[in-house]
Amino acid sequence: MDTDVILVGAGPIGIEVACALKHAGVRYVHIEAGQIGQTIYDWPRHARFFSSPERVAIAGVPVQTYDQEQLTGETYLAYLRSVVEIHDLDIRLYERVISAEKTDTGFTVLTSSRVSEHTYSSRYLVLATGDMNTPNRLGIPGEDMPHVSHRFDEPHRYFKQKLLVVGGRNSALEAALRCFRAGSRVSLSYRRPYLDSARTNSRLHLELSILTKKNYVPFYPATVPVAIGSDWVDLAPAKQAATGSIDPGAVQRIEADFVLLLTGFQGDVSWLRNLGAEFHPDSEIPIIDQETMETTVPDLFLAGTAVSGNQQSYKVFVATAHEHGPRIARAISGTDSVPFGTVASRRYPFTIRDISPKDS
Ligand SMILES: Cc1cc2nc3c(=O)[nH]c(=O)nc-3n(C[C@H](O)[C@H](O)[C@H](O)COP(=O)(O)OP(=O)(O)OC[C@H]3O[C@@H](n4cnc5c(N)ncnc54)[C@H](O)[C@@H]3O)c2cc1C
Repeated sequence: MDTDVILVGAGPIGIEVACALKHAGVRYVHIEAGQIGQTIYDWPRHARFFSSPERVAIAGVPVQTYDQEQLTGETYLAYLRSVVEIHDLDIRLYERVISAEKTDTGFTVLTSSRVSEHTYSSRYLVLATGDMNTPNRLGIPGEDMPHVSHRFDEPHRYFKQKLLVVGGRNSALEAALRCFRAGSRVSLSYRRPYLDSARTNSRLHLELSILTKKNYVPFYPATVPVAIGSDWVDLAPAKQAATGSIDPGAVQRIEADFVLLLTGFQGDVSWLRNLGAEFHPDSEIPIIDQETMETTVPDLFLAGTAVSGNQQSYKVFVATAHEHGPRIARAISGTDSVPFGTVASRRYPFTIRDISPKDS
């Protein structure tokens, strides 16, 4: 047995789990497919957290900024580097776990890096692999053309270009607003009949509501793209597309030099399935014991947004996952791991109910 725990994923919660394991004296190997905070590194440049700074602080290390405003991804990555250095964490970077198997004594994990493959064995396996592994594909002709993207990078590319943004959640609204301000001719298609204030950040919702109402950003509600060409997109009524019976007369062709399909992401649950984990009925949300974060496979734990399986729930955030590390460390070590380095005044209790009472 190489180690007690193999921990996969070094996003904020993976790092927080590592701190908790180290603090509890548990031997572990930490493996990350990219750089630490890779998901955040993949965010659009200069995008900000919606969560307040003290809620995304991890492992008891406070975040201090010059303006006390929400952090940009870049600022947070710098903070994560400090946390890793302060806690002297050993993370195997740019090493992707490509398979995991349950054995009589624990788990065997196969990884691949630029230079080699490696096999590790452990008693426990903790997956902190996030829920943004692959974009939700639309499965339509033209989706893989070079001017079509599932990720927004930054607005300069779209200056003076006709850009269709598809989606109605925060990522889509933020891209539409930033590109509009950067001088792009933005249109917005969303499958729902209106931009829903309950699903989006209030500032973005207000700004896009004004811009769409005044037609500065033409809005195509209740539509979905059904085909993409080199300088056009066909939009069909969402209800018809859902039934698979589209009236050709109801399809509108709109001009677009670039297309951003910002329709969300999903986690990869294939390993969980292969390892025999069970899911909630009619969903791909894994069943876990909330006290320990253990799945239905003994000694297999989930942490962070990975607990949503492949259904981004928008209920698990960094802010609502801080207990995952201590719960796992407690379950594995058998000791009651005390939160370390706590800045008590900023560690007020916080759950999804505080921001979305109807989800309680
Ligand atoms: C623009 C934008 C704004 C956001 N704002 C907020 C916000 O305000 N508040 C908030 O809480 N969240 C926000 N999010 C979501 C935020 O990114 C996640 O909540 C956060 O990253 C989850 O942390 P995590 O550690 O659970 O998972 P992740 O950060 O997704 O980390 C998972 C890690 O696992 C690694 N990994 C995956 N598969 C493998 C593998 N096979 N082998 C090895 N490593 C692997 C990945 O490379 C990644 O580094 C936002 C997202 C976007 C796009």
